[in-house]
Amino acid sequence: MSVETQKETLGFQAEVKQLLDLMIHSLYSNKEIFLRELISNASDAVDKLRFEALSDSALYEADSDLKIRISYDKEARTIAISDNGIGMSRQEVIDNIGTIAKSGTREFFQALTGDQRKDANLIGQFGVGFYSSFIVADKVTVITRRAGLGAEHGVHWESDGNGEYTIENTNRELRGTDVVLHLRAEEDELLDGYSLRQIIRKYSDHINLPIVMKRESTEEGEPEDETVNKASALWARSRNEITDEEYNEFYKHVAHDFTDPLGRIHSRMEGKYEYTLLLYIPSRAPFDLYNRDSRHGVKLYVRRVFIMDDAEQLMPSYLRFVRGVVDSSDLPLNVSREILQHNKVIETIKAGAVKKVLGFLEDLSNNDKEKYATFWQEFGSALKEGVGEDSGNKENIARLLRFSTTLNDSEKQESSLDDYISRMKEGQEDIYYITAETFAAAKNSPLLEIFRKKGVEVLLLADLVDNYMVSHMYEYKGKSLQSVSKGVADLAGMSDEQEKQELQKSADEFKELTERIKNTLQNKVKEVRVSNRLTSSPSCIVADDNDIDPSLRRLLKAAGKDLPGGKPVFEINPNHSILQRLKAEGDDARFANWTHVLFDQALLAEGEQLEDPVSFVNRLNELLVALSA
Ligand code: ADP
Ligand code: MG
Repeated sequence: MSVETQKETLGFQAEVKQLLDLMIHSLYSNKEIFLRELISNASDAVDKLRFEALSDSALYEADSDLKIRISYDKEARTIAISDNGIGMSRQEVIDNIGTIAKSGTREFFQALTGDQRKDANLIGQFGVGFYSSFIVADKVTVITRRAGLGAEHGVHWESDGNGEYTIENTNRELRGTDVVLHLRAEEDELLDGYSLRQIIRKYSDHINLPIVMKRESTEEGEPEDETVNKASALWARSRNEITDEEYNEFYKHVAHDFTDPLGRIHSRMEGKYEYTLLLYIPSRAPFDLYNRDSRHGVKLYVRRVFIMDDAEQLMPSYLRFVRGVVDSSDLPLNVSREILQHNKVIETIKAGAVKKVLGFLEDLSNNDKEKYATFWQEFGSALKEGVGEDSGNKENIARLLRFSTTLNDSEKQESSLDDYISRMKEGQEDIYYITAETFAAAKNSPLLEIFRKKGVEVLLLADLVDNYMVSHMYEYKGKSLQSVSKGVADLAGMSDEQEKQELQKSADEFKELTERIKNTLQNKVKEVRVSNRLTSSPSCIVADDNDIDPSLRRLLKAAGKDLPGGKPVFEINPNHSILQRLKAEGDDARFANWTHVLFDQALLAEGEQLEDPVSFVNRLNELLVALSA
């Protein structure tokens, strides 16, 4: 490390090297996107400067003419992307471009298959931003200085993308960043003003900031600057003037995504407050969708001036996958995050934006089932959170939900509640569901036997969020939601008189047995009773009517919240041969073994952990030995 410049050579974070290799190979066919990515970063850097300058205008220094400059040098064979945005400090350079700070990186690398064609697809999904420079460059130099720091705080970073980079201090008068690409030998065609302008117009026309280049000229003297892009806010233009390509490129910039979006909403809202929405639904979920601090949401603008990124006040958490821009005409230019907390304008905009998004999804679900299925697969679990989070829109959200059901036992969630209702049996009053930890556990649960026998459909819920969702949804269109794991199997209106009488008869007949079982299991159960819900299984456990669902209890327990009470009700199948045999069992020890094994089995079938698995195994073995003797 030299004293004056503190030059250091550092290694990239291990994944960066792997990422670079993969990216260079897989994105080569679409190599000009490097420019889009670097311009997108430059534009973000200017946005950040504007935001920070709201509370500290000194950050503009003497230069408030914000822009991006693209230049090239035929002799040196370089292209430079320069901005006078926020710049980076030495530590920021290390953190932002020496590492991949994105959450989800590990998941990304785990998802890689080694098959380059498949992985190329993944890399687009992940987004590679700055590193896409190495598609066309064999050396990249970044010279930057953070706004507000003195000229001596300039930083010079350089790398050939082969695992290491150097970083040293340098003097830099200008605020902002230059990214200089030293082109690979075969990339000479990029050293041409016409080609560069074409690429800029194709991918970056929508950037709301001038992108300037020097005019090509043969005359003497310094050539003039020329703005290459439209440099007007895309969302402020009228819909019929904007092409799908322009909309999609803008999406890629705001969402930091490489893939076209699934759909968009572009709408000028007039009324008490005026604002414009340009919102997108991505076609794939980011890796960190379920990570609470996932970033890049909706950007807030005021009269076309950027205010802030990821304005979480504009979109509820269950719609955190929505990307885009909200531009308000009513907020002051100097708003801060604090002001946004309880602001009438913001609340109105948020309510309007949510309505628009839900309306868009409703239309999609009616008009393009295939796209809606993609949406649901990617974002359905997030949307389910809305049932609890947004009580005002509960009915609208509920309409958008899709479920697996016993109709076809498919894991694919395809049935809406309206579909379910349209298929309800005559006399059926409730919507039945079962929650379990896995789809297989839900589908195969003994609790479904009677429903299957009677042809009554049951929703199969196995997503983590499902318990939360149903605990906030008591009914839909006047039909109450009923867990099949709770209470007496209440097939009200669907069991006939004869069945009721038979159940009563079995209960009387098995009274002695249920009491004997209760005495054996003692305080492990709340009650033992004859079941009307089993056909092929000997026994099952259910929760009492007023208790919470067993799967929710397990979830809470796993999260460290062990609730009191909640002993299960143990139900036995009077028609099952084991129970008939047990009724006549004279040997007390064998009776106890059978009883405990049946009970533990029922727990296992429910996905419960046995408190004492060894005793279960021992008892089972004793019974097997007796049988084989
Ligand atoms: P992303 O843009 O999705 O954050 P990138 O790989 O494109 O990912 O950029 C990584 C980070 O490097 C950015 O988040 C930013 O902090 C920093 N960065 C890149 N280019 C610039 C720039 N021109 N000015 C300031 N910071 C930059
Ligand atoms: Mg970027």
